[in-house]
Amino acid sequence: MEVKCCICGEKVSISKIHQDYAKLAKNPNGTFVCDSCQKRVKGETVSRWKKQI
Ligand SMILES: [Zn+2]
Repeated sequence: MEVKCCICGEKVSISKIHQDYAKLAKNPNGTFVCDSCQKRVKGETVSRWKKQI
């Protein structure tokens, strides 16, 4: 299944074993954040991340 990251907009293919697969299969419009963005969000403070947008 191909999903779009809600932060960077990159399309990512996820398999059935992905933790978000069931959630996104039920709700294709649900938010998905790719691995690199998840790391970036966790690694930086929220305020700094918002300034970049
Ligand atoms: Zn992303």
